Amino acid sequence: MTLKQQIFADWDVSPNIVAFTTTRLGGVSELPFASFNLATHVGDDAHRVASNRALLKELLPQPLEWQWLDQVHGDDVAMVNKAGPTLIADAMLTTSENLVCCVQTADCLPLFIAAVDGTEVAVIHAGWKGLASGVIENTISRMSSSPSSLAVYLGPAIGPCHFEVGGQVRDCFLAAAESPSLVLATQACFVCSKNPGKFMADLYAIARLKLSALGIDKISGGDFCTHCDDDKFFSYRRDGVTGRMLNAIYIEA
Ligand SMILES: [Zn+2]
Repeated sequence: MTLKQQIFADWDVSPNIVAFTTTRLGGVSELPFASFNLATHVGDDAHRVASNRALLKELLPQPLEWQWLDQVHGDDVAMVNKAGPTLIADAMLTTSENLVCCVQTADCLPLFIAAVDGTEVAVIHAGWKGLASGVIENTISRMSSSPSSLAVYLGPAIGPCHFEVGGQVRDCFLAAAESPSLVLATQACFVCSKNPGKFMADLYAIARLKLSALGIDKISGGDFCTHCDDDKFFSYRRDGVTGRMLNAIYIEA
């Protein structure tokens, strides 16, 4: 296990911001969780998950506090200034130093958000339900930095090559599009699948559209597909029973 096995956010923010996604490499879990599963709720052996979390903590400077979430595909945002018991939410933000905000994913889109001056960070777990229910909008509205001073990195999610959805998912986003140009832009996020009535959805493009509408223009990332790359990533769509990657961000003191 080395830091090289993690994927660090590629963005232009203050160097005191640390943000990365773990890969499935370098841990001790066995199939179907092999090997670096960091989630306790997926059926993996609890001791192995604890060992994997300990391996990750050893790689990072001390002392860091960790705040964990119970994710429910909703739009609640946890605002934390010190670590406490697990909270039910799908996004977390902090202005505290050395407090790790993290979400777990295996296909859903992780969004890392930072004030470019390094004073505030957030992380979001967004599948299509979270995107539709406004988890991005809710998180940005709670940040004290203006949208023009925020940067966003889109971490590894299932790509449009593999994320097939029914027409009702597309309809749900189209119904929320408030102008003819947004309707067109939203339609472009859904390409007809080879299966009748189905669409290949682009979570990255949907997120970019929402971020742009909020006035955020510093957006990077969005170049992985968790389903395509089974060496690096867990994928719920591909494997069903599988592990989770951890998406962590903190302000280094
Ligand atoms: Zn793919």
